[in-house]
Amino acid sequence: MDFRLNDEQRALMDNAEKVGRRLVYPSVRERDRTGRWDPALWKGMGEAGLLGLPYPEEYGGSGLSCLDTCLVKEAFSKGAHDGGVTLALGASMILCGVPIWKLGSEEQRKRYLPKMTTGEWLGAFCLSEPGSGSDAASMKTRAEKKGDRYILNGTKMWITNGPLAHHMIVTAVTDPTQKAFGISTFIVDADCKGFRVGQHIDKLGMRTSMTSEIIFEDCEVPEEALLGQENFGFVTTAKLILGWERTCLLAPFVGSMEGALEACVEYAKTRQQFGRPIGKFQAIRHKLADMKVWLEIGRNLVHKAAWMIDQGEEPLVEAAVAKLYISEMGQHFAREAIQIHGGNGFTTEYELERMYRDCMLATIGGGTSEVQRSIIARSIMNLGY
Ligand SMILES: Cc1cc2nc3c(=O)[nH]c(=O)nc-3n(C[C@H](O)[C@H](O)[C@H](O)COP(=O)(O)OP(=O)(O)OC[C@H]3O[C@@H](n4cnc5c(N)ncnc54)[C@H](O)[C@@H]3O)c2cc1C
Repeated sequence: MDFRLNDEQRALMDNAEKVGRRLVYPSVRERDRTGRWDPALWKGMGEAGLLGLPYPEEYGGSGLSCLDTCLVKEAFSKGAHDGGVTLALGASMILCGVPIWKLGSEEQRKRYLPKMTTGEWLGAFCLSEPGSGSDAASMKTRAEKKGDRYILNGTKMWITNGPLAHHMIVTAVTDPTQKAFGISTFIVDADCKGFRVGQHIDKLGMRTSMTSEIIFEDCEVPEEALLGQENFGFVTTAKLILGWERTCLLAPFVGSMEGALEACVEYAKTRQQFGRPIGKFQAIRHKLADMKVWLEIGRNLVHKAAWMIDQGEEPLVEAAVAKLYISEMGQHFAREAIQIHGGNGFTTEYELERMYRDCMLATIGGGTSEVQRSIIARSIMNLGY
């Protein structure tokens, strides 16, 4: 086991952090305040090679391992200090692009991945519905086969990149007599007949990403839009995505924790109270020490789960442990970072309140903390999944 980063990994991270700082960070406060998406940023990220990190080079990607993808996302997030843009990146490159890459036909890969990589096309992933989040397999969206087409009807909810996406991965029931084994996955282009973006959803955090309802009303897609095998879309996509989601979508939280810890150390050294820097007080030093411990444990959990994916394993439990830990300790971490900064921490100027709001999503999106605990408990009690 070798925990050291090699020169290539260090160079990738250095570059990603610089791109985040140069391209994304300067406008983040304004975009967070107004809830605005900037297409020029996405294009810039494409030009910087950030939008197709794990895809093979033949589809325009960089061919990085899952671990290296996490490292780049971690560093980018540290420089960008923008949870929303890193969430949009995760929704497009990981949740939408990875199933196309891993489960799609050669035509599907060639059609979608190169343009997602350049930033010309943005993707989304539509699983959740107004009545089904944690219990995703109880979805109501139907896809009925009629001749050489499928007709989709239903509503998807809280879809990241929903109002912007060129296409999305959509799960829909194809055999209502089954539950999880009666659900298929489709790649639906946003310009197809019967597709509609519903209400835009305003949010507490991740405000620089766009979220909406997506509505299918007799939405017609050709049978070539089916991704993988009919009726097995939910189980295969879920199995694939859970590991990738709980590593690559968590890695940015590690990066923002590292950035915040650096800011806290600097503040502790410079802020004077009672005639000395607050970093001289044991109470503040202990907070910094605890934060370092949370950061290192979280980082190692994410890296281990990503490494397992690269070994061809399915890190269901390891990814659940990583998600539970990073999401809950990340929120605690953000609170402590604000506390160290006192009144300044509560202001928008010091930008820790944005980190606090953004990281509130981590215990909810992609499987809540309660669901992670249940996965972990079932595993250690040998109850199956
Ligand atoms: C900003 C944002 C972006 C999102 N992006 C996407 C996206 O791009 N695509 C997508 O498909 N979805 C997306 N989601 C949806 C997200 O994945 C769901 O919100 C999440 O899975 C939780 O589902 P829910 O909101 O329906 O909560 P519910 O499932 O209704 O849960 C409510 C509460 O009950 C608890 N609970 C539920 N079942 C159990 C149980 N069995 N045991 C114990 N407790 C339980 C939950 O833990 C939670 O505390 C997004 C959500 C947000 C807020």
